[in-house]
Amino acid sequence: MDKKSELLNLFTRKCQENDLKITPQRTAIYQELISALDHPSADVIYKRVRKKFPNISLDTVNRTVLSFAELGIVRVVEGYGKPKRFDPNTENHHHFQCVKCHKIIDFHNKEYDQLEIPKHIGNKLKVLNKKVVLEGFCAECRK
Ligand SMILES: [Zn+2]
Ligand SMILES: [Zn+2]
Repeated sequence: MDKKSELLNLFTRKCQENDLKITPQRTAIYQELISALDHPSADVIYKRVRKKFPNISLDTVNRTVLSFAELGIVRVVEGYGKPKRFDPNTENHHHFQCVKCHKIIDFHNKEYDQLEIPKHIGNKLKVLNKKVVLEGFCAECRK
């Protein structure tokens, strides 16, 4: 099974477990998210989904992606405030974020995965996931 069908199965399962109705719009929004490589904001997803569902509203898209975040099938990308950006990749990975164009690039690194949680944090707080964020200029902005 390819990655996308695997994610769609996860989507179906999570919706069923949480009594979230699987509507064609919700499915389209999720499919748009997992096809996107750019950690899109709700606004960007809205513009893409609108091509298939001209009547969908930005508000619906907004609420839908936030409910996906609650189900744990997408993550809200850290930092930089508004607009919120979303990440369909809930596996352990790290980010490079361009400070100029705000592009977010996923990367994997075993050593970063194994970083230990500082005791003073781990003793007090419950850590759900660990991510290293590198900031700088992407290849285009560096020119
Ligand atoms: Zn850039
Ligand atoms: Zn990511």
